[in-house]
Amino acid sequence: MEKLKFSERCIFERYEGKVLLLNRETSHKILISENCFNIIVNSIDMGYSINQIINNMADEDDSKFIEKLLSVLIHRKFLVNEELTCIKLQTITFLLTNRCNLKCKHCCASAVDNHSEDILDKATVMKIINKLVACNVETIIFSGGEPLIRNDFMDILEETRRKFKGKIGLMTNGVLINKQNITQLVTNIDEFNISIDGCDEDSCSTIRGKGVFNKVMETISLLKKYTDKIYLSMVMTPQNRKLKSQFLEMNKQLGTLPILRDFVVGERAIENYDHWGSKEEIDIAAYQMENNIDDISFLSCGGIFHELAIRHDGMMVPCPLMSDDEFILADIQNVKNLQSFLQYDNLKLLSGFINFMRYFPENFDYCKTCPVNQHCWYCPHDIYNAYKYGRNMSIKCELKKNILKKIVWKEE
Ligand code: SF4
Ligand code: SF4
Repeated sequence: MEKLKFSERCIFERYEGKVLLLNRETSHKILISENCFNIIVNSIDMGYSINQIINNMADEDDSKFIEKLLSVLIHRKFLVNEELTCIKLQTITFLLTNRCNLKCKHCCASAVDNHSEDILDKATVMKIINKLVACNVETIIFSGGEPLIRNDFMDILEETRRKFKGKIGLMTNGVLINKQNITQLVTNIDEFNISIDGCDEDSCSTIRGKGVFNKVMETISLLKKYTDKIYLSMVMTPQNRKLKSQFLEMNKQLGTLPILRDFVVGERAIENYDHWGSKEEIDIAAYQMENNIDDISFLSCGGIFHELAIRHDGMMVPCPLMSDDEFILADIQNVKNLQSFLQYDNLKLLSGFINFMRYFPENFDYCKTCPVNQHCWYCPHDIYNAYKYGRNMSIKCELKKNILKKIVWKEE
């Protein structure tokens, strides 16, 4: 590697003579002095090679130091020698339907009941799958609404399996899995992701409705006969936070893999917002900080760069959460060649891309100059909701800024 540049996926935070380099692709971070950072930036601007940068240092010690630093920056993909040309998609979530058999209180998809028709018929779904297969995506996740509510779901699944060698995942509420369809499901699906949102009938029914807990337990014992790849998820609210360890223990007993999700404000969830507590109380990041103070991650979003979602109407969006109209990248039915569409130079001009980037902390007006912005937010969707629903940001700042400064910038 000779001439270098910083990767498109890197961001930099400056604070009191230090610079924190964050790589959203590899999730690595490196803290260096601003002087050192400036030397590298200026050298890159001048088009210097690695050897030139090393040889330009004032003495041997500095040369050795910068050589080592450059090697780490290259190894961790902060510095690259190629332009980002084409997005390499790892995961596509295909929301096959917006219909659902449950009415969960926190549903951010605002899934509708099962009386309406699906917009994409099976033939159209399969044409879309062909495009995904042709662009070598690694994982296709079927989601919804509830994908199993479609009468043609098994046909879609089997046909996808025949064409697609990658991983197939299913996001489901687990209620429609039974002895009749279990064989077809486990034969064709690599990973099951079931939402349960509780540890018993009481906690689960508060969110998902009566009887769902026992039905999901039956589904899990059925699935366990065939597979260990079962993820069980719980959305964390201020009310059920105390159940976290019980939820983890339950997963241990069941032999399932736990996933704790942040409460997402949106659609039906906003109607139930007051029930979950005030907006300011909902701060899972702060909770995580209290419990894991030395290990704080930063916003490492894969939206567009590694993952996309296809809505139930065929619109491509950055991810299942960032799916409002303003984030539409294109109608996949109109995209002839997905691989060409994914050229970075093409994507970055789309309004859906530009609007999506507006909700990253470094671009969000209230937070863009804050030295802890990348650690304060975990997902652009949180910022989008804060903006959309007028969150009182000063309360969030009060809660987090000083704690984060201590952790991120090693302040005394
Ligand atoms: S916007 Fe949030 S949910 Fe979507 S890919 Fe990024 S981090 Fe994940
Ligand atoms: S501490 Fe306040 S200003 Fe900083 S990122 Fe968080 S909300 Fe924004």
